[in-house]
Amino acid sequence: MSDCVFCRIASGEIPARVVARNDRALAFHDLNPQAPVHILVMPTTHIADANDVGRGGAELWPAILDLAVDVARTQGIADSGYRLVINSGSHGGQSVAHLHVHVLGGRRMAWPPG
Ligand code: 5GP
Ligand code: ZN
Repeated sequence: MSDCVFCRIASGEIPARVVARNDRALAFHDLNPQAPVHILVMPTTHIADANDVGRGGAELWPAILDLAVDVARTQGIADSGYRLVINSGSHGGQSVAHLHVHVLGGRRMAWPPG
């Protein structure tokens, strides 16, 4: 999807501070970090949101979440704790229509979310 900013990051067309990847997912720093550690983990193929993963996602979810947990370890927040967030759709607050997991840490998170 040439009009999708995260597809353009996946293809290397738009630069990003990549921290890790596996065969299905890419992890990179968020442009506008909301915590001392704020990394996004996304599938390298275009999937709009959590609904679109569908039943074929049996292998995709672990690929994304494994990478998210790896990133938490390499960023040094695994022991202090962190938050994984998937905003999906309008009420979920999703602003980029390419599925991604936020890995947030380095400070204490509040609950409930806004
Ligand atoms: P959402 O609101 O969809 O859950 O999260 C989208 C995230 O993508 C936001 O935190 C925003 O800062 C980040 N973002 C938007 N455009 C870019 C970009 O071009 N590069 C990077 N690295 N992050 C982006
Ligand atoms: Zn995309």
